[in-house]
Amino acid sequence: MTDNLPVVETFHSLQGEGLHAGRSALFIRLGGCAVACPWCDTKHSWPAEAHPQQALAALAAETEAAEATGAAFVVITGGEPLHHDLGPLCQALELSGLPLHLETSGVDPLSGRFAWITLSPKSHRPPTTELLAACHELKVVVHEAADLAFAAAMAAAAAAAGNQPALLLQPGWDSPAGHALAIDYVRRNPQWRLSLQSHKLLGLR
Ligand code: SF4
Repeated sequence: MTDNLPVVETFHSLQGEGLHAGRSALFIRLGGCAVACPWCDTKHSWPAEAHPQQALAALAAETEAAEATGAAFVVITGGEPLHHDLGPLCQALELSGLPLHLETSGVDPLSGRFAWITLSPKSHRPPTTELLAACHELKVVVHEAADLAFAAAMAAAAAAAGNQPALLLQPGWDSPAGHALAIDYVRRNPQWRLSLQSHKLLGLR
């Protein structure tokens, strides 16, 4: 039983990306990631041991406080949260009654119970079939044309796994080419929609 997890930061803000963008949420960013995406904007989260262990009870108390001040749901993000067994964390946070959302690259087995799973697959470390089958939204970051082919392959793999997640293309924040490619692809493929990092546009955390 895990009583503690390495936590990079917690903050109450607005979800900036995906189908739930614009909604009030408490973010819990766990430490630790071995996926090593070259464009990662949270590289400081990679070494788990660099971040203090926090008690699940303290995270549960923070979740209840966030609910009292308007949070509509909790986002477990990272790092790569599924490097950890998330069962005990979910059990502790469920007491608040807030829906729990997960943001993952999908390289590890699924643990915990989530109302919403955002799968952001990486071509250099493809996700498991389990996560392709379980995700509610599939969000692919676009920097170059090869990312569009990867996005289509991931959507097909999710469908083959019996899932029909919402399909989102998200241009790399500092990638003009990615923006142009994603916009053009979504314009021609109506089953996809554009996801922008609106928190960055607005200067939110
Ligand atoms: S999976 Fe997420 S946290 Fe890990 S390297 Fe990739 S973008 Fe960064």
